[in-house]
Amino acid sequence: MGRLIVVSNRVPVPKPGTPPAGGLAVALSGAMQSRGGVWFGWSGDTAAADAPEPAAPRTLKSGSVTYALVDLKERDLDDYYAGFSNRMLWPLFHYRMDLTEFTRVTLGGYYRVNGLFSRLIAPMAEPDDVIWVHDYHLIPLAAELRAAGLRNRMGFFLHIPFPPPDILTVLPNHADIVRGLAAYDVVGFQTPLDVENFETYLRREKVGRRMSDGRYVVHGRAIRVEALPVGIETQTFAETAKASERNALVRRMEESMIGRRLIIGVDRLDYSKGIAERIQAFETFLTLDDHWRGKCTYLQITPKSRSEVAEYAAMEREVAELAGRVNGKHADLDWTPIRYVNRTIGRNALAGLYRMAAVGLVTPLRDGMNLVAKEYVAAQDPEDPGVLLLSRFAGAAFELADGAMLTNPYDIDGTAGALARALVMPLDERLDRWRRMYERIRVHDVAWWCRSFLEALENDAPKAAAAK
Ligand code: UDP
Repeated sequence: MGRLIVVSNRVPVPKPGTPPAGGLAVALSGAMQSRGGVWFGWSGDTAAADAPEPAAPRTLKSGSVTYALVDLKERDLDDYYAGFSNRMLWPLFHYRMDLTEFTRVTLGGYYRVNGLFSRLIAPMAEPDDVIWVHDYHLIPLAAELRAAGLRNRMGFFLHIPFPPPDILTVLPNHADIVRGLAAYDVVGFQTPLDVENFETYLRREKVGRRMSDGRYVVHGRAIRVEALPVGIETQTFAETAKASERNALVRRMEESMIGRRLIIGVDRLDYSKGIAERIQAFETFLTLDDHWRGKCTYLQITPKSRSEVAEYAAMEREVAELAGRVNGKHADLDWTPIRYVNRTIGRNALAGLYRMAAVGLVTPLRDGMNLVAKEYVAAQDPEDPGVLLLSRFAGAAFELADGAMLTNPYDIDGTAGALARALVMPLDERLDRWRRMYERIRVHDVAWWCRSFLEALENDAPKAAAAK
């Protein structure tokens, strides 16, 4: 078996003495440790504008994994990362055509950085290595690597949604993007809806179809397309939540909550997460029934993200103002309805806060998966679990529909009503719903996801050429 080469925009290089950053990094590093591997991507640092192209990436070794890092120039980051990836692909793939900004300059940067990655990866790859590329920043990478002569097995996983064709075709270079996907042997999406959107696109644009063996022929290449929902480290997270009673931050929170129920939301500050709609729903809930005044607190943990993109800065103001207005209107001298926190909370404390919360509010307008939904479920006390209120537009809804209370985040009154029902849900119904969700995420955890993708990639990926 060859090595595993993972490529992603950012590389989670382990820092000595600190716990690994999240389930995905743990699962992928685990797969690489056992067979040897390279994790390639942007270092997070910038190179000088006049620096020559490096002949090779900087490398760092940890056990049998080599982290291979490249610095990017400011201009490349502006065009490839902040520009085409985060101002075009991110909003478009989250169904937000109104927020997209397409320019030939940023598109050029996108291909330029994918070309640079390819030139640095190609010399490192041995013929039996398998290459697994992650996410929307790097769709064209396999096509670049194949143009450089590589015949390795290559897989791609899209962590965000794949939109329907009417939306995708807003992208002027949609044909090239799909041609880029066709250069992989396996393309993984989060949900069956994403696969359906991909298939509809192929049919409408007449560039491919599903074959009788379940594979797809796209631009003349046979590829495998799978819906493989990404999971979390369920058992570890459940244990962390159980042990969190000793966490100082969790204890402080608990002391401040005596006699009150906790409602929790945890999201990066991103327009896809529906945070403003959620705050409005919470305000409507407060006006529905006086009984909950002073008896519940909504904690919204929202680290800032991508502040270099204008839409995010605007949203930062909008959400802060809204939370402030609701608090100003409804607070009492000894009670603040919303605690709005703009910083990153560590995973241990987060697990404890989820466990303490009677309701987890996960109401994105559109989300590829949403790991917070799964973490909330994993963290619950199996004797007295809370209720997950989950947007039907989160990828996680495909797996958790029979246990969560599904909501439409655009329906503010409906979400407010669901919150009111969640807070009084009897224990036997909570137990029944939670057990179904927990069983699902216990079996389909992040290790399952990683194994399933690699099996698809290695066992029966079609051998290169055409089938028409
Ligand atoms: N997260 C965290 N601390 C915070 C806020 C979020 O560790 O203060 C983590 C959270 O536990 C989850 C991840 O960030 O694992 C967010 O993943 P998700 O799929 O929900 O959304 P994304 O940010 O990838 O769109």
